Amino acid sequence: MTGAGILRMDDYTTKAKAYWWVTALLGLAALIWAVGTVARMEPSAIIQVMLGSMFAAITGLFPVRIPGAKTSVSVAEVFIFLLLLDFGPDAAVIAAAAEATVISWRTSERWTSRLGSPAMAALAMFICGSVFAQTYGQLQAIGIFGAGLKFSLLLALALGYFCAGTLMTTALITLKRGEPIAPLAILREHAWLALVYAGSGSIAGMLHTSFGGFEVSVISAAAPIIAALLAMLHVYFRHAEAEAAIQSERIRAAEMAAAESARHLAELRESEDRFQSAFTHAAVGMTLVSTEGAIVQANAAMGRLLGRTVDEFIGTDLMQWINPEDQESLRTQMRSLVVGNESTFSAELRCRHNQGIDVWVSMNGSFFQAKPPLSRCLILQLQDITARRRAESRLQYIAYHDGLTDLPNRTHFVEQVTRVIAVVRRHPERRFAVLILDFDRFKLVNDSLGHSAGDLLLVELARRLQGYLRPSDLLARLGGDEFAILVEDINADLEAVRIAGRIKDVLAEPVYLKGVAVSTSASIGITTSTFGYDAPEQVMRDADTAMYRAKSQAQGAYVVFDSALHADVTARLWLENELRRAVSTGQIQFHYQPIYELKSHRVTGFEALARWTHPERGIIPPDKFIRVAEETGLIIPLGTWALETACRQLGLWQTTYPDAPLMSMHVNVSGVQLVQPDFPVRVKQAIRIANIQPSQLAIELTESVLVEKLAIALPHLETLRALGVKISIDDFGTGYSSFSMLGKLPIHVIKIDGSFVAGIGRDANGEAIVAGILALGKTLDKTMVAEGIETEAQLQCLKDLDCERGQGYLLARPAPPEALDGIFRDASVIANAESDVTARAA
Ligand code: C2E
Ligand code: CA
Ligand code: CA
Repeated sequence: MTGAGILRMDDYTTKAKAYWWVTALLGLAALIWAVGTVARMEPSAIIQVMLGSMFAAITGLFPVRIPGAKTSVSVAEVFIFLLLLDFGPDAAVIAAAAEATVISWRTSERWTSRLGSPAMAALAMFICGSVFAQTYGQLQAIGIFGAGLKFSLLLALALGYFCAGTLMTTALITLKRGEPIAPLAILREHAWLALVYAGSGSIAGMLHTSFGGFEVSVISAAAPIIAALLAMLHVYFRHAEAEAAIQSERIRAAEMAAAESARHLAELRESEDRFQSAFTHAAVGMTLVSTEGAIVQANAAMGRLLGRTVDEFIGTDLMQWINPEDQESLRTQMRSLVVGNESTFSAELRCRHNQGIDVWVSMNGSFFQAKPPLSRCLILQLQDITARRRAESRLQYIAYHDGLTDLPNRTHFVEQVTRVIAVVRRHPERRFAVLILDFDRFKLVNDSLGHSAGDLLLVELARRLQGYLRPSDLLARLGGDEFAILVEDINADLEAVRIAGRIKDVLAEPVYLKGVAVSTSASIGITTSTFGYDAPEQVMRDADTAMYRAKSQAQGAYVVFDSALHADVTARLWLENELRRAVSTGQIQFHYQPIYELKSHRVTGFEALARWTHPERGIIPPDKFIRVAEETGLIIPLGTWALETACRQLGLWQTTYPDAPLMSMHVNVSGVQLVQPDFPVRVKQAIRIANIQPSQLAIELTESVLVEKLAIALPHLETLRALGVKISIDDFGTGYSSFSMLGKLPIHVIKIDGSFVAGIGRDANGEAIVAGILALGKTLDKTMVAEGIETEAQLQCLKDLDCERGQGYLLARPAPPEALDGIFRDASVIANAESDVTARAA
């Protein structure tokens, strides 16, 4: 590491470095020289020099800080000058170096300073002290000598020493900064230090003169005096400093108080300015209104909102700018604010724009403490919500209208029917009628010309109907090709029939779609308020019933809902209600029809068929109630009941007749049931409770169920197949399942519908059809069951065609379980006999 490195001279310019080294080496040389000279003195002199140097150094440790000045001074110079007078310049050099060492060690950490300062002090004293000693000696030699001269010389020395020391040290600093040296400026800046030096010189002179004659050393005598002086100065300056501090603290406090109140005032002014500025520049409309409703102030945003200048508002009545319909409610809200019932209010109302249009605003109002004389007024904020309102009304429109034809939709229509029901209830002389229209052959148009053509047709028909109706009649699209008309009239029933008659002509005129002339007709169902409706659903249901009746008649027919139809509906309602009760009170039981292996005439299983025994009406067949159960959802509890009961019955038979072979149980399952998420779980439960093998259960599904609900049904079927449950296709041949689909589905049994069996021997190719179905089943490897075998001829034919199984009145009618015990008894007997035969044979 280089010397410069240790000395940390990185911030030194080259000049400064050179200067430092020169002065340091010269100073060192002067010090070495001085030490050498002093060492040759008498021991007592050496001791005194050491003592004096020590005092100088110690004094350097107690600097006196002068209030107001940046630096502090020491009076160590007194000792230095005393040593100069008594022992010559060399002694003074050592003392000067000692003092500078102490001061620089105390004030700086840098070695350049800790070494440089003593060296410079030594050099300065070496020069000044030598000059002084020379002059003093020569003057003495000439004989000019006196106390006055000594003082003058001492003062000159002190000033010289000050100049030399100050210039030497500050020169380094200026060189370091790279500035030119300006000696006069430096001296002027430190002039006050010169006074200290001069003072020290005088004191030294006085002490030397006073104590010079005594035996005791001047140095030792000077020490306590100097110490006392230092202490005095210290105490004095401290006191002065404290005084000054108190004074300045007082001034500061006063200044702060003044500043504080000024700040407070400024803040007040600022907050008011802020309010004013917020008010003026706010993005929302704002206005100050007197409690009487006169506008006192308004901002630019409010002007923009209503298309006016701010000045136009001042002094006017607020209500002048509000839509008359909204004025009353606003007045009420403002009043409740003024009397103190409410602290704020908000309202959505319409303001009148300059251009005569209404602007929807959201208005918020509250009290505002204004400057006198207007101490109480209201501040209102107005926000433009026209866009939102417009969007809302658009949404409302969408919610109540059909997207294709722009006609009111079902929701709208039903709401209006609700309204007219209420009207008629209050005023029975008023009447209404509802027509429901369903276009005939609309599906045909859709299928042959495409959906867009179908849409065009609907739009065109809607336009025509609308054009034909009176403005007071409401035309709505209920969905698909179904439309409805609401007629309100004293003679609504007559009017409805008149409309229905005319619609035929309106629709007969062809519509051109893709160059094809399409003329349509509609089946129309009509109902009127004469039935005393209390809910819109009843109205829609009856009009619908009438419409379906019309559809079953000629095309373009209309049917007025009447007492006969009413009876139908009533009967249906009765059935619904009774069925609900029947399911919960166990009026539904099961009959079982045996399924035979045709060749051997042995029973292989049973089909469970629901039987409803009504307490008054007797037995009601499933064809009458299964559809109602499906439509009302009652099929779900009913179906679960069927599964559990049938499985339990089979389990009971098998445990009662343990020798009988295992038989199967076929249970009919409707589509609604099959798609229930928990259907597979229900099946598992039924099997577990009944304690039968899963393979003994077969669920019967119709083709239509599989076609319509395949996506949901398939995973369920897979689960059941994995479980071992058999799946059977019911009424095969009447639906529209494709043969390719049959191959892919997890199906085990196909039941040939009874109508095909009935065709055997009756229709020309009846037998061939059955033969075809059987052949198909064989290739797909399914178990084939023929249904509805009623005659011996049918049975024989099926046997000849190799049909495995069959059921029908000829073989056995469905019967209650107790009537079928015989089958199991016989089966046990046969099984035992066969095992006997095999045993004997063995
Ligand atoms: P299906 O599944 O085709 O049942 C066979 C129907 O044919 C039964 O009518 C049965 O009594 C009848 N039948 C049996 N042999 C002959 C015959 O030789 N000649 C004639 N003409 N008919 C015969 P049923 O019991 O009136 O059931 C009618 C339909 O009701 C069933 O047709 C089935 O689809 C449904 N059904 C019955 N019970 C239930 C049930 O528990 N759940 C569900 N979802 N449907 C059921
Ligand atoms: Ca069946
Ligand atoms: Ca069937």
